[in-house]
Amino acid sequence: MEVKPVLWIVIPCYNEEQVLPMTAPLFLKKINDLSDVGKISPNSRILFVNDGSKDKTWQIITDLANSDEHYLGICQSRNRGHQAAVLAGLMEAKDKCDITISIDCDGQDDINAMDAMVDEYLNGCEIVYGVRSKRVTDTWFKRTTAEGFYKVMNALGAEVVFNHADYRLVSSLVLQHFADYEEVNIFLRGMFPLVGFKSTSVYYERAERMAGESHYPLRKMLGLAFDGITSLSIKPVSMITGIGLLFSCIGILTAVWAVIRALMGHTVVGWTSTICIICLLGGIQLVSLGVIGQYVGKTYLESKHRPRYIISERTWEPTQRHWIEEK
Ligand code: UDP
Ligand code: MG
Repeated sequence: MEVKPVLWIVIPCYNEEQVLPMTAPLFLKKINDLSDVGKISPNSRILFVNDGSKDKTWQIITDLANSDEHYLGICQSRNRGHQAAVLAGLMEAKDKCDITISIDCDGQDDINAMDAMVDEYLNGCEIVYGVRSKRVTDTWFKRTTAEGFYKVMNALGAEVVFNHADYRLVSSLVLQHFADYEEVNIFLRGMFPLVGFKSTSVYYERAERMAGESHYPLRKMLGLAFDGITSLSIKPVSMITGIGLLFSCIGILTAVWAVIRALMGHTVVGWTSTICIICLLGGIQLVSLGVIGQYVGKTYLESKHRPRYIISERTWEPTQRHWIEEK
């Protein structure tokens, strides 16, 4: 019999008790369909990563794991955020399968794009990015902020695939190399292009969440953007240097002009302009210090080498605690 690649679908879940029972059977059906047409091995699996949910999500995952061998789950010791959850799942999967596909659990990413992703893998690609072709179902605000996000990221030197989130096929070959990227400040969609290997994109339309609410408000999105920029580029620091130089030149010219005016006897009480310049320069200096401080802070965090995730439970391992036996 011909050998087929084993696929693991990696799904981060945070407080998803409403949507998980709806989408889990869809993932299972997709695996069965793909193995029926002979694209993947029937030993493929669906790996849920519970990201420290406060609701019944982990209970639902363990029930699913008991109901069908294709469902597996791991549990993070606490909430560490979407990126860490995906990373934990991918690292768990990398030695047990040939390809992984990471996808959100809310049904927003079109599951049917997986067929094309697997086709591209079979054609020789090691990474396949899922790219949203349209954003008609997103609100105007979400769409504008999200598209602005990619533009700002690229302008600031963090090269990311436009409109690609974390719906992506990655082969275990790439993951073996990706495991050497040990930073704690992770921004997966910007880091995978750095690994290299043959890659391509597959386009799909993004739907609305099937149930529950988004866990990515503007605040978290700004945080993700900042993580992305600071983890991938030091361009902001060089931009600050540039702005500093520019303003120093303007400052020198202004000083020369002021001295000439004074020598000519035109000394006017320039209170307004003085205040304006002080405020402007003060603001620029504070922003610049802040940006540099962010990089120093990130360096500090990296230097600690703390674990990026901690897995507390696995559905396929016994959960009882081990006691030291009495002698
Ligand atoms: N998620 C997670 N940890 C978090 C926040 C979100 O694992 O701290 C998961 C969530 O369960 C979902 C995915 O990340 O599967 C995307 O989150 P969401 O749908 O809320 O974001 P949006 O699609 O609105 O950007
Ligand atoms: Mg979503």
